[in-house]
Order: sequence, then structure tokens, then C-alpha cells
Amino acid sequence: MEELYESALRKFRKAAVIMNLDPNVQKILEHPKRQLIVEFPVVMDNGLVEIFTGYRVQHNVTLGPAKGGIRYHKDVNLDEVKTLAFWMSFKCAVMGLPYGGAKGGIKLDPSKYSIKEIERISRRYFSEISVIIGPDRDIPAPDVNTNSDIMSWYMDTYSMHAGYSVLEVVTGKPIGLGGSEGRTEATGRGVAKVTELALQKRNQKISGSKIAIEGFGNVGQYSALILFKEKNAKIVALSDSKGGIYNSSGFDIEDVINYKKTHGTLSNYPNAENISNDEMKALEVDVFIPAALENSITDETAKKMKAKIIVEGANGPVTDTADEILKQKDILVVPDILANAGGVTVSYFEWVQDLQSFFWKKEQVNTTLEEMMERSFNEIWDIKERYSTDMRTAAYILATQKIAFGIEKRGIYP
Ligand code: NAD
Repeated sequence: MEELYESALRKFRKAAVIMNLDPNVQKILEHPKRQLIVEFPVVMDNGLVEIFTGYRVQHNVTLGPAKGGIRYHKDVNLDEVKTLAFWMSFKCAVMGLPYGGAKGGIKLDPSKYSIKEIERISRRYFSEISVIIGPDRDIPAPDVNTNSDIMSWYMDTYSMHAGYSVLEVVTGKPIGLGGSEGRTEATGRGVAKVTELALQKRNQKISGSKIAIEGFGNVGQYSALILFKEKNAKIVALSDSKGGIYNSSGFDIEDVINYKKTHGTLSNYPNAENISNDEMKALEVDVFIPAALENSITDETAKKMKAKIIVEGANGPVTDTADEILKQKDILVVPDILANAGGVTVSYFEWVQDLQSFFWKKEQVNTTLEEMMERSFNEIWDIKERYSTDMRTAAYILATQKIAFGIEKRGIYP
């Protein structure tokens, strides 16, 4: 049973009905274009061979090459990867990027392997999926548990086969090796920007607003840091997979990041109360930012939530039924396909810079990103008002209009 994909389709179908979408276009968008499953052997440090399962799904490539991250997690499966690829098509279209959507993943718990094993697993996986990868075909990037080191190995593996350096085959690489200024923190910067815009719509200033963030990885940490340092927001609660911490006066985020680096956990942070992830979701805050994994807000949690706004840093953190409960409670949800699109947008800047071999200053990256986030936010808000709907449905309408235009103009081959 493809539960996650079906739940994603239900959200998309709401938009399809409201916008009176051509049923032929709807049919096309409900099916991914390519789904690749690879099973591959890797020699472990002890000399024994282990077999891994990896995926790469390209959902739709009407508007350009496929784009999307690669996730390493013990629960990765085809349903999840297919759904994440589906969301990428709409996310790229929401931001007006010349890309289609893709996603990949390997089913593994990275904490159980040495760095050298992770390198061999990464290189072999990338080699296996490279039959459908390329700078003008499909350009991967980081996601949960993958980072710039892994992107360097992917790029090197692809380049070894090509016989020359192909920097533009992946994004999220280190600066100095084809990476872009501002890429690491881009998703967090986008989250911070739309948080500010959403609060404005509720006639509230971001400075001093109380915010809770679930997940303290790339997205959670940079969202927290930018909201704290640049927007002067009060981050009162934070959590990771091991649990959360709360302080009503707000945290110094740089200090919390250092604590997590040294202790490997947020728990027992000085002058804070340890709380569970469930307790955190029920806090009375202005904004709650889920930045961990899918389905974190279920019907039960939605009923208990007291936040005024939810900004989806993670992909798919709210189930489709919980979405309805939040709507009834008048909690404004800024949807994932807009809220966390900062990452893919700066990935796009990185790809453009690699293709031109000309690199931008950080300020140019950040300003262009924030302008694009604001433009898409306003486009979605206008559609939301025009159709008297929620922001998610409005975002799907905006993205679908763009992809449908491409499908219509290109026609259906042959
Ligand atoms: P990450 O691996 O860097 O961090 C994930 C964090 O979530 C970790 O702190 C982990 O401890 C925490 N976590 C895991 N399970 C949890 C649970 N049950 N409760 C609380 N915390 C939990 O991953 P990331 O790159 O920050 O990605 C987070 C989410 O954002 C994912 O949904 C990802 O698809 C999405 N996303 C990431 C990017 C990006 O640029 N990295 C871009 C767009 C969307």
C-alpha cells in the first residue's frame, strides 16, 4: 500500500478540482515518469560483502531536467522516494525553476557504518543510478543524512566514468569544488523568510515572536540560527530524534549548536527543561516549524496544537487528514513545496554557476533567494485569496498551472 503517495495525491487532487484541471494532465501528473531500483554489493571494512537497496525516481521532466535530493535512512522505501519526487516537481514549478522533480535514497542506517564504508556505498550507488543521471538529465543534491562530502564523492564518481570533471552533475558540493555560497543554509534561509512573511499576514512582527522547531539537522539548525540572529525571533523550543528542550526566554542558537556538537544531543542543555517531541508540538507558540521527517503532525497532534502558524521545513510533515483539522482551527500552514524550496533554489543557482564557470557573491545568492521566495509567497497568497482556499492548495494550483502549460505546449508524444 502506497500510503504516503496516496496521501500526497489527495492533497494535489483538491487543487485539481478547484482549478478544473484537464483530466489528461491530471493523469500524467499522478504517475512518475521513471522509477529505478538498484541492489548493489559493497565490501565492508571486515572484508564481507553487504547488499544495499537504492532508489532514484524521476516524477516529471516537462519543464527541464529532474532535480532532487538523496536520502540515507533506515526507513527509505519506494513509496517515500516516489512521493518526495512528486513533491519536487511541484516545488520547482512553484519557484519558477526550469526543472522537473526527482528524489533518491538508500535504505541504510548511516550511524552503523564507517566513513570509508559510507564512501564506498555512496560511490557504488551513484555509479548504479548514473544510467539516468546527468547535468542535463537529472541533478541530485543532499537530503536527510547526506552532505557536501557525499556530493563530492558522487561528482568524482560520475567524472571518473566521463573522463573529465563534471561539476554540474550534483549540487550541494563544497565551496571551492563547484559549490555555491549560501547553499548549506539556503533551506533554512527560505524557511526564515516565509516565516516572516506569514507572520506579517497575521499582523505580527517576527522580532520577539515565539518559535518551536522540530529537528535539528541542516534545515532545523539553519532555520533556528537565521531566525535568531537575523530576524531576532525567540526560539523557545528545539528538538531532535532523541527529544527536545524548552526555555520560555528563548535560546542562544549558536550556543545550542555548539552543545549539540559536543554532546551529540540537545538533552540536558543548561537552563532548559527537557521535553518530548509530543509535548513540544502542544506548546503555545506563534510558529511551529517541523524540520524532521514526514507525518510528524497526525490528527491527534493537530488537535492538540496551539501554534498560530506552521511552516513546513520538512517535506510532508502534516498528514492530509491533519491538514483539515489545522484548517478548521484556523492555523495557517505554509506548505513544504514553498517553505523549504530555498534549498533547491540555491541548488539551481549552483548549477547555473557551474555551467557558466562563474561564481556569485554570498550577498547575491541570499538576496536573489529571498526575492524569489517572496515572489512565490505572494503569488500563492493571491491564489489563496482568489479561490478562498488554503496555502497548500494554492501552491499546488500555481505549480500545476505552470507544468500543465508545458504539457499542453509540448503535446503528448508521439
Ligand atoms: P538532517 O538529517 O540534517 O536532519 C534531520 C533532523 O531531524 C535531525 O536532527 C534528526 O535528529 C531529527 N529527527 C529525526 N527524526 C525525528 C523525530 N522523530 N523527531 C524529532 N526530530 C527528529 O536532514 P535535513 O536535511 O535537515 O532534512 C530535514 C527535512 O527537511 C526532511 O524532510 C528533508 O526532506 C527536508 N528538506 C531538506 C532540505 C535540505 O536542503 N537539506 C531541503 C528541502 C527539504
